[in-house]
Amino acid sequence: MARRLLACGAVLCVALAGLLTLPRSFARSQTRYPAFPISVAVAEDRLGQPVVPAAWVTERVSRANEIFADAGAFFEIRETRSLDPRFFALGNRADRNALAASLHPGLINVFVVASLADVDATGFRMGVHWRPPRAAGAHFVILAQSAMPTTLAHELGHFFGNPHSPTPNNIMSYARDGLTPPVFDAIQLRRIGDHAARFRRSREISL
Ligand SMILES: [Zn+2]
Repeated sequence: MARRLLACGAVLCVALAGLLTLPRSFARSQTRYPAFPISVAVAEDRLGQPVVPAAWVTERVSRANEIFADAGAFFEIRETRSLDPRFFALGNRADRNALAASLHPGLINVFVVASLADVDATGFRMGVHWRPPRAAGAHFVILAQSAMPTTLAHELGHFFGNPHSPTPNNIMSYARDGLTPPVFDAIQLRRIGDHAARFRRSREISL
């Protein structure tokens, strides 16, 4: 009897362990997309020096790839180019909107600048996902020199349709304990999958 109970207990434990691991394995996308191509444009100062080195960008793309892995999505830098010194410091909405003229179609455009003023409050931002009002459907990411290693993943989270999250340590939240790696939840992963399929279908992004 005791042995039978033990066996049942073992089965129960296995079942519970399965339940406990279900949300994460369930959330993990079965779809693997080809690499989403990124065009990186880095502003230069008046001496022609880029505001960040190449390794700064690759570190942030690597972090984005770790965080997007559960969605089956990853990114690769398809091209790196320099951005005119007039984009060195973005002070208002017009400065951000002017970047629309520098978009390269079929790619996720990421612009890196020295500073990015907050256009809704005083102060500065580390990054933003921006939709210029007079460029139908266009949207892109701007990172400031002050961006954290996870800022690109956060802005790409917006690019793939996610709003902010109130849950601490979610990648779409501003609340981080600095100890737990930020992640997407199951709903966000599904949303990323939906947007990835749409970007692919519409050829907004060339895969
Ligand atoms: Zn945000």
